[in-house]
Amino acid sequence: MTRLVDLSPEAFAAHLTSLGRRRAYFVHDNGVVRSSHPELAEIAAHLLGDTRDYHRHEGVFLEVGATTGALFGAFVHNTTRGQGQGGLRYWPYGDLAGFLSDGLRLSHGMTRKSALAGLWWGGGKGLIARHIDHPYHDVGFRERLYTEYAGFVASLRGCYITAEDAGTGPADMAVVHRGTRFVTCIPPALGGAGNPSPATAKGVVCAMEGALAHLGLGDLAGKKIVMQGTGNVGAAMIGELVQRGVGSILASELSPARREQLEREFAGAPLTVVPAEPGDNRILAEPCDILAPNALGGVLNPDTIPGIQARIVCGAANNQLLDDVRDGEALRARGIVYVPDFLCNRMGIVYCANEQYGKVPHDAAIERHYGRDWDNAVYVVTRRALELAERENITSAAAANRLADALATEPHPIWGHRSRAIIAGLVVDGWAD
Ligand code: NAD
Repeated sequence: MTRLVDLSPEAFAAHLTSLGRRRAYFVHDNGVVRSSHPELAEIAAHLLGDTRDYHRHEGVFLEVGATTGALFGAFVHNTTRGQGQGGLRYWPYGDLAGFLSDGLRLSHGMTRKSALAGLWWGGGKGLIARHIDHPYHDVGFRERLYTEYAGFVASLRGCYITAEDAGTGPADMAVVHRGTRFVTCIPPALGGAGNPSPATAKGVVCAMEGALAHLGLGDLAGKKIVMQGTGNVGAAMIGELVQRGVGSILASELSPARREQLEREFAGAPLTVVPAEPGDNRILAEPCDILAPNALGGVLNPDTIPGIQARIVCGAANNQLLDDVRDGEALRARGIVYVPDFLCNRMGIVYCANEQYGKVPHDAAIERHYGRDWDNAVYVVTRRALELAERENITSAAAANRLADALATEPHPIWGHRSRAIIAGLVVDGWAD
């Protein structure tokens, strides 16, 4: 018999609809996962028993879009520090198990990223399963899809706050914002913070400085930097590095237009931008002081790690290690200092985290992340994580996780563990009925 988690997201959505349901939840309760409907108990058992990614999520909520039929997910991991926040991914999945694992893994990661950044937010993640038949370039379809998703988020009463992520963009968030207040990273015209990439770039550069200091290698002046990808973050990073007097930057980039633009913008700077093909990782083997993967995830793996000739790896791309444990260990064994991506690229989320509190010039709530005094500054936390890794003989990712997990137990100073009460309210009020 086919297990429900082996169904494609579309087949599962059709199954749920055939049961006369459009919604389902799985809520953690004292070591047990309770499902909204007895027919779905095997999914609760899968969450608790079969997936390594569950990590006692406080709530997993599913809904089938009323007119699109798309499967929506909201994953709420740990809301001790505040509402579960994490972007909305619109992505194809082969089966429900893959859909669930991705949402669980990413929301767990968001608990850690926000806690380590000192934000009063918990971890969450949104997913929409993309189907091959979705006309996802069609503006009308996207309007319908994100209007439905907004209604789903609104119905969760604030235990999950969404934002853009892979497959979604500012225009989609503007649609979501029409239907719910529980969305961040909205366009500036609607009161949002705007493009976070320059902030992300500056944060990564602060982490580079922390890693150099950890190794006793001084500051960035004169250093050789190698970079993969010069998109929104990479281009801004070049500006930050040039300002700090680096010796040279060697970058690779797919887009000829981007390469030309950078050559014009940084004429006279010690910058060389070389062409690359999709999936091309040759740049990672260039000798340098610091290697910055700024393109795609998964680039630190058994194929690339043996060739790396950098003292430090510190870049913006999410999920750089293909396998957190194996590849983190491999870098450590080679004596390469790896700054975990979720530590150094935090400024993207920090930049728009508090946009509901309004905008001020040179915002101290942002600027303190770039300094060296505040306990949660990028530079300070980078040094702390690297020192812990060295002291305990563990990988830098394990050290950063340990710091993050301790911070994630601190309750929100004003609201306490309010989202858990929100979830309890949803259950009592029959959210999935
Ligand atoms: P982007 O799409 O603007 O830039 C990525 C660039 O990498 C593109 O210019 C692309 O042409 C290039 N590229 C892709 N594959 C390549 C390859 N094999 N070799 C060389 N170049 C290649 O994206 P971005 O906003 O700059 O983000 C970069 C990374 O940082 C992503 O992984 C993103 O998830 C992560 N990130 C971004 C932010 C942010 O604020 N934008 C925040 C946190 C994390």
